[in-house]
Amino acid sequence: APAIAALAYHDGEFVPLAQAQVPVTTQALQYGTGVFEGIRAYAQQDGTLAVFRGHDHYARLLRSARTLRIDVGLDVEQLSGVTAELLRRIGAGGDTYIRPLAYKRALLPGTPPGVQLTGVSDALSINAFRMGSYTDRSGIRVAISSWRRPESGVLPVRAKVTGGYVNNALAVDEARAAGYDDAILLNSRGQVAEASTANVFAVVRGRLVTPPVTADLLEGVTRDTAVTLAAELLGAGTDFHDLARDDLCNADEVFLTGTGAEIVPVTEIGGRAVGDGVPGPLTTALMTAYHGVVRGEDERYHHWLQAVGPA
Ligand code: PMP
Repeated sequence: APAIAALAYHDGEFVPLAQAQVPVTTQALQYGTGVFEGIRAYAQQDGTLAVFRGHDHYARLLRSARTLRIDVGLDVEQLSGVTAELLRRIGAGGDTYIRPLAYKRALLPGTPPGVQLTGVSDALSINAFRMGSYTDRSGIRVAISSWRRPESGVLPVRAKVTGGYVNNALAVDEARAAGYDDAILLNSRGQVAEASTANVFAVVRGRLVTPPVTADLLEGVTRDTAVTLAAELLGAGTDFHDLARDDLCNADEVFLTGTGAEIVPVTEIGGRAVGDGVPGPLTTALMTAYHGVVRGEDERYHHWLQAVGPA
């Protein structure tokens, strides 16, 4: 694994990661009542380390937390400040992955045991570890999962809830067991929702198509970045409409977007080649643009980057 564990911000203090622990009675451990984010910090071309779109990730964390009645205790600015301090304390060393987690901890005095969101204390941990880009630029092979994405009347899929990731884990497990790299999940209507931890785009006649948020998906920060860069740098507009599985198989190009995955071409879906079976021109151009932007190479997008110290 490329990850090297380091430090955590845990219950208001900076501690070695090994000390950032919770008891087995932790409510979120038992019931999945936590919310989280995945954020990347990139070594910049000017030698600093900068968090990419941290404010957008923390705004989503706070929205997710509201859904589960979790009081994070810090606002977006404060969360960004704590993250910057955490990264400074970890010190120089290059690209870093940041994992904030806000969760239900312990029953408050007088609260009877049970599955509940009130009468339970809230907690916040942020850990960070070194992790470079692992995007497979030659493209990945994905399966259409037999697991459906839950609809928003079943689980709040627009929130990044820990317990909901049982669904994602089962889909990844099934796909890997069948020899694929990842899974695309359909929603309860049988339309494309998203990949296990990334959003899905198709290229059709030079335009991008991605399912709307009503297709039961997490509105990715990277999805928004891809839409913006495609429009502003590549002159390619995006249509937000439903995609059927055969739309994907017949698309010229397909790619996934996510903080972890970045922008990754999909060259095969369930045993069928996408296009010519190699990364297409729009995907490749977008990948290049994305990697430049996250490294601070394009001044127009410096507002997405928060420098925290030397890389
Ligand atoms: N969908 C799911 C289910 C995810 O877990 C992620 C990763 N957070 C994404 C989409 C992509 O979101 P983002 O681009 O904000 O990382």
